[in-house]
Amino acid sequence: MAKLKKTIIRGGLETLYFSGLHHFMRPMVGGIGAILTLHHVRPPRNDAFQPNRLLEVTPRFFEGLLRRLKRRRIDVVSLDEMHRRFTEREFRRRFVCITFDDGYTDLKEWAYPLLKKYELPFALYIPTSFPDRLGELWWLALEAVIAKNKRIGMLINGEQRFFDCVTVREKRQLYAEVYGYLRSMKTEDELRGVVRDLCARHGVDMPGFCRDLCMSWEEIAELAADPLVTIGAHTVNHKMLKKVPDDAAARAEMEMSRAVLEAALGKRPDHLAYPVGDPTSAGPREFRIAADLGFKTAVTTRPGVLFRKHRHHLTALPRISVNGEFQRQRYVKVLMSGAATAMWNGFRRVNAA
Ligand SMILES: [Zn+2]
Repeated sequence: MAKLKKTIIRGGLETLYFSGLHHFMRPMVGGIGAILTLHHVRPPRNDAFQPNRLLEVTPRFFEGLLRRLKRRRIDVVSLDEMHRRFTEREFRRRFVCITFDDGYTDLKEWAYPLLKKYELPFALYIPTSFPDRLGELWWLALEAVIAKNKRIGMLINGEQRFFDCVTVREKRQLYAEVYGYLRSMKTEDELRGVVRDLCARHGVDMPGFCRDLCMSWEEIAELAADPLVTIGAHTVNHKMLKKVPDDAAARAEMEMSRAVLEAALGKRPDHLAYPVGDPTSAGPREFRIAADLGFKTAVTTRPGVLFRKHRHHLTALPRISVNGEFQRQRYVKVLMSGAATAMWNGFRRVNAA
């Protein structure tokens, strides 16, 4: 099923590109700019089982993207500059913001030298529990549990169940099913409970991912000192905020992360990204709280380019994901033209409900 979906998306992107339709549609759907989302930038691994591959692109692909942005008549700007253009209604030139979520060490190793080389500004959204080494990268923990074991046991609705995962095909299928089950849970606390239990039973050290993959406070401070870099908040515990029932707790996740970043780096972040960021993770309540807390902008992962109208929804901005499953420059071109996301969104420009 996941494979079929990928094939359909790829087919759609190819059609839009090779028909030239994206070019034709751009004046109508291209908007005023776009915000790109990236996670990992690192050399590819050969493992057949990589359910989180969509979150990583290769340094080579990334450099191709930067080179193309630099060549095109498009401004690569900081989040502050984007905010200025919205508030002063200056939309003469299209712009792009480059953003990274979570603060992985590979960013510093592979992406940062390239961003320096092309002198492009970018933003980094940090969940403060990651450099504090307390973060739970549960999607990677789940991957490790399934990768390392041939059979896993878990409690589902109070009942003990076992699943075989010997072949790559079984592993992929089981990951998709357990991931879907976890994402369907009503609260983030339930989800974390299940993953902690899986890790404890199957010998996976969840805090280890944080130590091995995420930047330390020293590394973040080093980046933060560079004028090209904007540090944004990404909550404390990287929870899907909509799945935090208590309003005060959801608010504290955003407010506390800003306070911790300010204390650690000496500068108060003005921008926020909602963890996960799709409609099941961030909605009107979160958009309101972020505005209320005085964040200049806050980004979702709802797919879309930016339109003038978004100035009324600065804490519910869409982004374009630079997806590791679709590493072709022409796909990014089609996505940035707004054509694919316009179709995705039924030609609705703002999706903030
Ligand atoms: Zn994140």
